[in-house]
Amino acid sequence: MTKHAKVEQHEKYGEDGSTDHPKCPRCSSFLAQHDNRQTCGKCGYAEIEK
Ligand SMILES: [Zn+2]
Repeated sequence: MTKHAKVEQHEKYGEDGSTDHPKCPRCSSFLAQHDNRQTCGKCGYAEIEK
């Protein structure tokens, strides 16, 4: 049985947080990147990209 684990991680930024990764304006957490939007997993904030 083969497990097909799809890992979707962005290793763009280091642990020091130096990145241009967008942050949540509400709670300053990093936003999760989706196809056309960014969402905050903490407070539920969402940004739609066009
Ligand atoms: Zn947030």
